Amino acid sequence: MARYTGPKCRLCRREGVKLYLKGERCEGVKCPVTRQRSLPGQHGAKRRRRPSDYSLQLREKQKVKRIYGILERQFRKYIEEAKAAKGEAGLVLLQKLELRLDNVVYRLGLGKSRSHARQLIRQGQFTVNGRKVDIPSFELSAGDKVGFAKKTLEIRKNLIIPDWLSWNKKSNTGTVKKVPERERIEQDIDESVIMEYYSR
Ligand code: SF4
Repeated sequence: MARYTGPKCRLCRREGVKLYLKGERCEGVKCPVTRQRSLPGQHGAKRRRRPSDYSLQLREKQKVKRIYGILERQFRKYIEEAKAAKGEAGLVLLQKLELRLDNVVYRLGLGKSRSHARQLIRQGQFTVNGRKVDIPSFELSAGDKVGFAKKTLEIRKNLIIPDWLSWNKKSNTGTVKKVPERERIEQDIDESVIMEYYSR
């Protein structure tokens, strides 16, 4: 499936939650989800049938893919890796997504959104443990250090860096202190429903 290039707000409206795809606009009053717009499309407001279990599972996995900007093929790969790993597969899946370099850059406030973080990474503006990395899906581990090549830094306003990350202003370096615990992964996600979808 090709990458979606249409209006980003439409994706949030489809899922009925904020997916934070447009940077600062997402925090403002102009966000269509904040203004409680109906589902996208001509008949959006009329679609109020009780969803089936399958539909709920489908929407949940679509929501997560959209939050992290991942295509189906790559997402399935994460699912297989999570199933094969030790521990609760749903949690492992979320931890893998959180530890992607593009997500860590976004959480450190160095990108306006995850897609902006991906652009910066592809431009070669980041290092991991001193080596240039231009792959947004690069998976970080506890103890890894993310460096920003440019001296001038624009960090997102009103940012709260999660406790599993830290930022050193002097060296322009972020550190993954530990693998995030479930309660530190803020998004409103039901990972068990996603795993049910992929165990059919
Ligand atoms: Fe648009 Fe951001 Fe609001 Fe989503 S959260 S609807 S991308 S403004």
